[in-house]
Amino acid sequence: MDTIFSIKTKEERINILIDSIQQKLKFMVGKDPAIATKHDWLNAISYAIRDLTVDRWLQSIRTSLSQSGRTVAYLSMEFLIGRTLSNTLLNLEMYDDVAAALSKMGFKLDEIAEEEDDPGLGNGGLGRLAACFLDSLATLKIPSVGFGIRYEYGMFQQNIIDGQQVESIDRWLQYGNAWEFPRYNLYYKIKFGGRVQLEGKVARWIETEEVLARAHDQIIMGYGCHATNTLRLWSAHATNDMNLSKFNQGDYSAAVEDKNFSENMSRVLYPNDSTESGKILRLGQEYFLVSATLQNILHFHYLVYETYDNLAEKIAIHLNDTHPVLAIPELMRLLIDEHEYAWQDAWAMAEKIFSYTNHTLMSEALERWPVDLLGRVLPRHLQIIFEINDHFLKQIKQRYPNDPDLLTRLSIIDESHGRQIRMAWLAVVGSYKVNGVSQLHSELMTKEIFADFAKVFPERFCNITNGITPRRWLALCNKPLAGLIDDTIGKEWRKELTLLSELKQKADYPLFIEKIKACKFENKVALATYIAKNLNIIVDPNALFDVQIKRIHEYKRQLLNILQVIGRYYRILQSPEKNWVPRVVIFAGKAASSYVNAKMIIQLINDVAKVINHDPRIKNKLKVVFIPNYGVSLAQLIIPATDLSEQISLAGTEASGTGNMKFALNGALTIGTLDGANVEIRERVGKDNIFIFGNTTEQVEELRSKGYDPRKIYEEDAEIHQVLNSLVSGIFSPEDPNRYYPLYDSLVNFGDHYQLLADYRSYVKAQDEVDKLYLKPDFWAQKTVFNIAQMGYFSSDRTIQEYVDKIWQVKPTLSSC
Ligand SMILES: *Cc1c(COP(=O)(O)O)cnc(C)c1O
Repeated sequence: MDTIFSIKTKEERINILIDSIQQKLKFMVGKDPAIATKHDWLNAISYAIRDLTVDRWLQSIRTSLSQSGRTVAYLSMEFLIGRTLSNTLLNLEMYDDVAAALSKMGFKLDEIAEEEDDPGLGNGGLGRLAACFLDSLATLKIPSVGFGIRYEYGMFQQNIIDGQQVESIDRWLQYGNAWEFPRYNLYYKIKFGGRVQLEGKVARWIETEEVLARAHDQIIMGYGCHATNTLRLWSAHATNDMNLSKFNQGDYSAAVEDKNFSENMSRVLYPNDSTESGKILRLGQEYFLVSATLQNILHFHYLVYETYDNLAEKIAIHLNDTHPVLAIPELMRLLIDEHEYAWQDAWAMAEKIFSYTNHTLMSEALERWPVDLLGRVLPRHLQIIFEINDHFLKQIKQRYPNDPDLLTRLSIIDESHGRQIRMAWLAVVGSYKVNGVSQLHSELMTKEIFADFAKVFPERFCNITNGITPRRWLALCNKPLAGLIDDTIGKEWRKELTLLSELKQKADYPLFIEKIKACKFENKVALATYIAKNLNIIVDPNALFDVQIKRIHEYKRQLLNILQVIGRYYRILQSPEKNWVPRVVIFAGKAASSYVNAKMIIQLINDVAKVINHDPRIKNKLKVVFIPNYGVSLAQLIIPATDLSEQISLAGTEASGTGNMKFALNGALTIGTLDGANVEIRERVGKDNIFIFGNTTEQVEELRSKGYDPRKIYEEDAEIHQVLNSLVSGIFSPEDPNRYYPLYDSLVNFGDHYQLLADYRSYVKAQDEVDKLYLKPDFWAQKTVFNIAQMGYFSSDRTIQEYVDKIWQVKPTLSSC
């Protein structure tokens, strides 16, 4: 089958594909074509395409083994990879052939591809970043493996019922997963609980409970020839299928219960994004990932080298946030307790192996575990963490003998909050490099949370600004624009995104501008069709599509956006005769199931939508749409159709954002604060091609320290007054007038933590500028071209190259093309 790549005639390739798909339906799916469902065909096609990737995959593993260089292990609790079939076809450059083959069989590729469920393996930005990295690691041929958990259920599916978020189980594996190779004979024992017994100097961890971690591999197809790597996900299984003694006593359900407990380790992804739940099962999941991965790494290392002494030369372990930071004590445990290394030797290796990416500065998101809880689940690791801390503090004390406060601040154990382990501290102490994810974030990181660490380990900290893969986020999701770019500058931008800068010269050509507008319009029609079909709302594709899609979180300030929409509603009612730019304001995003305020914001958006969309005085000047169940596939539909990208977090709260990059790459203009990577987007596109508003991080800090008085703003600004009063007058919730009192209260009486009112005025002003520009469609389109042309820097290929150069020190595998 792999020979298909060398066959020159399309006709022949198509016939081979058809034959292969029919074979797969028969022999892998076991169905008669006469009764096969769309899902059966999807599986048959997926198996056929997977076959095309296997030889290349095995070859790249062989090559990297023979080179025996360093390999990257990228550890992440989430990989939000999106659909695999379409992306694999794109990266294999087989999309058109397969589309033609399917069309000959009477199918449409796009329709079949949409049958694939989005894998439920991530929550939001952090998981999506890991997925973009897999794509770039493969494309750049960096020897690497992504390690994660094969959650049986994703976060949840979001339904909107009576305006409210209602969660249902995300059974993304219900029709099977054609892309994975279950490794039935590759499993490791994971231990929990029990106690530690000292035998002389040797610690033995005994009386533990055990779970098996079994590997499932997915081939990650990079773009271009022979570019692949591996995503290895662990699933949990009971060690003994039945607890025999209970079974023999006739207690069948108790015997099975045990199995349920251990298999919970990979049951479901926790839905918290940027907050920590502190659930014991989550700690279990984190350790489950880490222990399986490290045992796997050591096992294969020993098979090749018959020693662990050279471990640090051969492996770089990267921690995506603190979630997998138990890898550090786990490596120490394995080396010391199981492979008889001395502490100093083991630590010397660990210090050359681990690196860590920080993703947030917000205290509510920083992971901490109570000492007693961690001690119950992982007693040996608790000892090791204390020992790491002792060695570290001793070293600091020698360097700074007269600063006991420094020691307290640097200690991994926080004694002031009922004895908690600061996981981010452990990550910094155990890593040779720590990076932030945008210039601003990295700078604040070393000034704020890690200020003391930056003093004692200045060489450890660096910045690597996030990026996105141009394959999924342009070539795949925006066929019209990708085609136009191909026609204009050729196809090489898929591998070298900075080539897009050549488009700048085209921005003065009216014909090119017309084509840019036509692409956007085509994408907007597709989104309008989706909205009409699924939500029964008619939107005009000529209106300005104003979009905020991301996790619902107070710091991201969806509430500021909907308040501004309410303000606009009142202004339209006040002067209906004015030349209003018709707008469709689109929201999407999931709220963590226990996050009360975020859920209330969703309900408010839907309540406001109901009133505005049904107000006959408004006509088509304003529509509000909340699209349920945001995920990668919806992002691929919505982003290309967007005119205005809302990136309005309070300055200093969004570490980077990657949604902002996807939008600009797809020809949307950004309205945003000077936060995260917005700062670098502005640097590149120029301040005339982006709408920046709001306080800077310094101004936010100053307000905080000098005393911020939101009530004063509420009392002095008539529009803000009117808008906030509408929350408590029942206009948007006549059946329950008090529904939004808590939101009002949090803004007016409880300090407006994310300073919405402070930024409201400048936000509205910036929105007015947006309207003015949209009235000049050619100027607008020209500015979108300047945005697209300047997005080369934000390719995750550039990001990964920086990780390779600044942190991992790995060499790409050689290949014949
Ligand atoms: C890109 C992406 C995100 C991150 O969006 P931000 O705006 O950076 O928060 C979250 N979810 C999905 C599905 C994405 O594709």
